[in-house]
Amino acid sequence: MKLFGTYACTEMQTAFTECRYGCGGHHQPELLIVEILDSDGNALGAGAYGEVTITTLGVEAMPLLRFRTGDISSFDDQPCACGRKTIRLGPIVGRKKQMIKYKGTTLYPSSLFDMLNHFSIIKEFVVEVFQNELESDELILHIATDVSIDICESKLRPFLQSRLRIIPKIQYHTTEEIIAMQYPNAGRKPIKFLDRRNNNL
Ligand SMILES: [Zn+2]
Repeated sequence: MKLFGTYACTEMQTAFTECRYGCGGHHQPELLIVEILDSDGNALGAGAYGEVTITTLGVEAMPLLRFRTGDISSFDDQPCACGRKTIRLGPIVGRKKQMIKYKGTTLYPSSLFDMLNHFSIIKEFVVEVFQNELESDELILHIATDVSIDICESKLRPFLQSRLRIIPKIQYHTTEEIIAMQYPNAGRKPIKFLDRRNNNL
């Protein structure tokens, strides 16, 4: 079965859907104006990451002007191999309020999840972010591994350095301890991102 990616929210009443070339979700310009905005509200060009902001053209009862979705993405304005010339929206890399500013780098939980999920010696993990006394973000990776801490460190640190260019604090736990962190209130969905920053309390 062939699968196609799509991106939409209720407010836009349309969707960005991939064509068979799978190079991003095609924009429907007769239904929507889409902009990628930086944190000051300036429209960004192709390839730059910012907040997906929409103005609806096909919604009659509740049209929206520059509605900020809170989703972070970028767009490609080169013509697609399918022949369409409208822009294509890239993958959503995260939510604006989840953005982590760490040691001069901006990253999102989803990119950390991708890295940790592909690291087979990591059995379970929780990413924790909080603010230090200087009100900048601090990051701790809580990890359970089935190899020794020394072996895990020797593989994980160079990996994080090359992929992220930074090495967050790493704390090791048993799998049971990580599971207890993931299900604090006997919930059904594991929580892998603990946001303890003041603006999210
Ligand atoms: Zn296409």
